Amino acid sequence: MDHYHREARRKGGADPLVLDTEVTGLRKTGDGYQVEMVSGGERFSVEARVVINSAGLHADSVAEMAGIDVDEAGYRIHWCKGDYFSLTGKPPTRMLVYPPPPLDEASLGIHTVPDLTGRLKFGPNAYYVNEISYKVKSSRDEFWRDIVRYLPMIEKKDLQPDMSGIRAKLQAPGKSVKDFVINHEEGKGYPSLINLIGIESPGLTCAPTIGKMVGEMIEELL
Ligand SMILES: Cc1cc2nc3c(=O)[nH]c(=O)nc-3n(C[C@H](O)[C@H](O)[C@H](O)COP(=O)(O)OP(=O)(O)OC[C@H]3O[C@@H](n4cnc5c(N)ncnc54)[C@H](O)[C@@H]3O)c2cc1C
Repeated sequence: MDHYHREARRKGGADPLVLDTEVTGLRKTGDGYQVEMVSGGERFSVEARVVINSAGLHADSVAEMAGIDVDEAGYRIHWCKGDYFSLTGKPPTRMLVYPPPPLDEASLGIHTVPDLTGRLKFGPNAYYVNEISYKVKSSRDEFWRDIVRYLPMIEKKDLQPDMSGIRAKLQAPGKSVKDFVINHEEGKGYPSLINLIGIESPGLTCAPTIGKMVGEMIEELL
């Protein structure tokens, strides 16, 4: 992020960068949007010619603030959590190992995740949640049963709850897979509003390319 911010500054385009600030309202004005925000209890607003909504788990709420009917648009986000367990002791592999076939349709299955410190993690699984809590809730048993299908030497006692993440899924529980939405909302009556909704894996890997794509959309607008 530091790199991108420095690059943007060098090109003269990133200031002011406002961090730790929540968008609480989005109102269409003559040729742009009034964006209401709150930071440290202080409320303020800015006029924006272009709005890019990339609010992750809350991108549907931000789209709704503008006036978009998120259910009609198919933008309702379902939070889908994934837990990780880490392995104590020497990892039996430093490779990415995926179970065939995928264990369920909301994830690729619990696979190995070598990290930069030389540790090996396993995860993520996938279960839908209604609240944002990053506490690992899955059981060691459940993880171990899946892992020993492809790494039978792993002992249950060597698995420790590690971390979790929450995916912003457009795919509702029990429904079929839905892809990312990257859309300029002119057709819905919101010119210069670009929505990025349901950017789940591989959203991180794709981030530079998504950024480029959105940049090109903006160049066309200005
Ligand atoms: C368990 C798990 C495993 C994953 N594995 C991979 C992987 O292997 N490879 C891969 O490429 N991707 C992976 N991903 C997906 C990747 O993490 C996401 O696609 C990526 O982080 C999405 O980036 P984003 O910028 O769209 O959203 P986020 O990173 O969620 O950023 C959204 C930001 O918006 C802010 N925000 C929200 N609401 C408001 C508001 N009202 N006002 C102001 N700010 C707001 C949030 O605070 C946050 O900072 C994984 C995700 C999970 C959960």
